[in-house]
Amino acid sequence: MIQNNESSPILSGAIKRRTSRSVIIAHGDRQVIVGGDAPIVIQSMTNTDTVDAIGTAIQIKELARAGSELVRITVNTQEAAAAVASIREQLDRMGVDVPLVGDFHYNGHTLLKEFPDCAQALSKYRINPGNVGQGAKRDSQFAQMIEIAARYNKPVRIGVNWGSLDQGLLARIMDENAQRNSPWSAQSVMYEALIVSALENAQRAEQVGLAGDKIILSCKVSGVQDLIAVYRELARRCDYPLHLGLTEAGMGSKGIVASTAALSVLLQEGIGDTIRISLTPEPGGDRCKEVIVGQEILQTMGLRKFTPMVIACPGCGRTTSTVFQELADDIQTYLREQMPVWKTQFAGVEAMNVAVMGCIVNGPGESKHANIGISLPGTGESPAAPVFVDGVKTVTLRGENIAKEFQQIVLTYVQSHYG
Ligand code: SF4
Repeated sequence: MIQNNESSPILSGAIKRRTSRSVIIAHGDRQVIVGGDAPIVIQSMTNTDTVDAIGTAIQIKELARAGSELVRITVNTQEAAAAVASIREQLDRMGVDVPLVGDFHYNGHTLLKEFPDCAQALSKYRINPGNVGQGAKRDSQFAQMIEIAARYNKPVRIGVNWGSLDQGLLARIMDENAQRNSPWSAQSVMYEALIVSALENAQRAEQVGLAGDKIILSCKVSGVQDLIAVYRELARRCDYPLHLGLTEAGMGSKGIVASTAALSVLLQEGIGDTIRISLTPEPGGDRCKEVIVGQEILQTMGLRKFTPMVIACPGCGRTTSTVFQELADDIQTYLREQMPVWKTQFAGVEAMNVAVMGCIVNGPGESKHANIGISLPGTGESPAAPVFVDGVKTVTLRGENIAKEFQQIVLTYVQSHYG
């Protein structure tokens, strides 16, 4: 059956972001706001040995240059804690003001106490309540970390992870479940334990003396449907800003697809104030990929703009040469490489669209919708590539230098339309 619609217009867009407190993460004059009305923040984590202060500072600089607005480093040993202040100093000397987040497990209370320079140099602490100690020590060690955060005026992320869920709390939730007339499934009990761990520890942190606007929460799991279920409920039960990420998302396209699937559902529902994409890099791969994927999720969903987008057709039997793929790749790389400079000179350039199309079937039409578009000759078409600027055909490129000439047209457009 086919139905007509003549009454209501078709609308698009994500649901308005859930109302949350806003948390300021600062280093010097640089302030990154998570929550409230602030844009959704992109963050990342290094995979260097923190003890290697120079190597870590270099990777942080690369991540920040790629667009990471917060960078987390692991602080797992005394040597790592001793290196943190030096990493911060090196970044400051290089003019990199990205706030650093320290990731603590097991011994965070000791490290923060014994290395005050580390406690001061970090702009935020991540505390995993499942890994702060066992039994009677647990509450005291958690409280010590929170007291230090309060003393140094640092925000904290209470980051629960299902791989390190507080076993005592899980046992308690299971006991409570057993008392129910209709006990919940094991899966629902696990979800509840994750959420209760985050909420109870946030409450405890406030009781210890950390202000409510210094707390961000996360409950990370590695399954897409699990993450969606947990965050929907977590979002309903508190107004702390939420750090969103699929933990252990995996490698390559699997990690990208799983993260995108989970985060896009939640972001569409207005849930999530900062995101991190936990990709396993290929051997020798670029750590900055997790930043780019995070940006692309937000930009393709229309939630933020970071870099001009390239619209390219997939190619088909009508494009049998590699010229089309090479041009699409070339212009995408060119745009991303220019952005660190362009964003300081050409305000609004990140909203530009560039279309690279393979043939005459959809090429001219799609190119006209973009700020700048090029339609390459498909197999059997005359060897000419018409260029459209703001919907108007301006020039037809031919020969070996199409890529360079197209780059120049894009640069001229940027210089004349932005800034
Ligand atoms: S625009 Fe042309 S080359 Fe590209 S997918 Fe469509 S038909 Fe194929």
